[in-house]
Amino acid sequence: MAIRLKQAGIQDFVIFERASDLGGTWRDNTYPGCQCDVESNLYSYSFSPSPTWSRTYAPQAEIWDYLRACAEKFELGKHIRYEHEVQSATWDDAAARWRIETSKGPFSAGVLVAAVGPLSEPSLPAIPGLDEFPGPHFHSANWDHGVDLTGKRVAVVGTGASAIQLIPRIQPQVTQLHLFQRTPPWVLPHRDRPVRGLARALYRAVPGWQRLVRSSVYWSRELFVIPFMKPSPNSVPERLARGHLEKQVADPELRARLTPRYAIGCKRILISNDYYPAIQKPNVELVTDDIREVRGRSIVTEDGVEREVDVIILATGFRITEMPFARRVTGREGRGLANEWAGSPSAYRGTAVAGFPNFFLLLGPNTGLGHTSVLVMVEAQLRYVMGCLAHLERSGMAAIEVRREAQDAFNAGVQSRLRDTVWNAGGCRSWYLDPTGKNTTIWPGMTWPYVRQLRRFDPPAYDLSRRPA
Ligand code: NAP
Repeated sequence: MAIRLKQAGIQDFVIFERASDLGGTWRDNTYPGCQCDVESNLYSYSFSPSPTWSRTYAPQAEIWDYLRACAEKFELGKHIRYEHEVQSATWDDAAARWRIETSKGPFSAGVLVAAVGPLSEPSLPAIPGLDEFPGPHFHSANWDHGVDLTGKRVAVVGTGASAIQLIPRIQPQVTQLHLFQRTPPWVLPHRDRPVRGLARALYRAVPGWQRLVRSSVYWSRELFVIPFMKPSPNSVPERLARGHLEKQVADPELRARLTPRYAIGCKRILISNDYYPAIQKPNVELVTDDIREVRGRSIVTEDGVEREVDVIILATGFRITEMPFARRVTGREGRGLANEWAGSPSAYRGTAVAGFPNFFLLLGPNTGLGHTSVLVMVEAQLRYVMGCLAHLERSGMAAIEVRREAQDAFNAGVQSRLRDTVWNAGGCRSWYLDPTGKNTTIWPGMTWPYVRQLRRFDPPAYDLSRRPA
């Protein structure tokens, strides 16, 4: 957003960052093995490709470096206010401005963009006794590098995208690893490989070649989503995943415990070549009984078995549909965004919300993806927000707000397209669904229609207003 503003000649903006460095999820997630599960040629800005990726799927540290390099290249430093946590943002109708309280004092702004990221607030399980556990225990997104796992008995709770990356890394280090699985994931083979010097030289010399590679990755991922839009039993991805499991896990009893009972894609599909081999090592136990409590140094499961451990790692995901930031935003007539949403977020094109003038969300409701790079969605939104700001500027008015009818009609369309997809009807309970059971997270299918839709700003969906006299 900042880069796009600068490119449009707008310098009068600040970025509030609660941490002391930039990078969001790629700054916070430093657990061993953290890596993006989308190819880096696509998981990077289209306007700032990097010819230096060491692997086709870059590890966390490289992505974080890339983000910092972008901030430097586009001279964003002077705009960023580090350690400024936004505590509240309230629309002041009389002044047509946002009043923003931060941990370092008040600010005001004509326009507010929330780029807070859906995967930023760790979800900590409510396991009785966990807080009294005497040993180290931490969430995968807050990895405690001060804890040496060598020779320790370690519990990992969760088998999602984070867990399956960190388990193969810590397994050789620990004495015993108890892996607590509530729901088995579908796992596909990983196609990660090193980017050789020759390819990097080619990317540098012929940027058009890298753009072509990016396009081919993009379109192959667009095709990959088709089976999920109308799920059928035994789909091609499901057969691939079953084949992967059969190839890597010989024991039929273990295989049965690792086989999901929902359609592939219903939860995020994981990719790994070393997860199944790691969990079959003699020092790993897969526990499929639910956790009842933590008692002293032990984790007790529903079958009454106690396992004494030294460290507990919670790879239990994030508070996604809740969007904790919404509790801090108050729009027209004192209406809070969290109250307005009541546990079921919705926005127009995932970006604008009725009742909240001059306010935009990046990666807002129903712009999440399970099959490709979210940066595709973000870039579409940036173009759209810039179009909206230009329209507001041209109009000479003070505020712009999406019409409720437009928002409702958009969401009715999204929900109807989601109805039969694997994300809604795949037979699982995933973080794609909010507490009311509605899918307010995922975009229903291919991304190109979204990109096309957001290419041009659509004034009829919005109301403009003057500053009250
Ligand atoms: P996640 O996918 O939400 O997985 C959380 C895991 O914890 C699930 O297996 C869940 O089981 C389990 N769990 C949660 N509460 C539990 C409890 N009380 N007791 C037992 N198990 C519990 O979280 P994540 O792995 O951190 O990934 C979140 C998202 O971040 C991903 O879907 C992806 O979008 C992104 N991510 C991406 C990458 C990447 O690009 N490589 C890496 C990591 C994360 P259930 O399935 O039964 O709920």
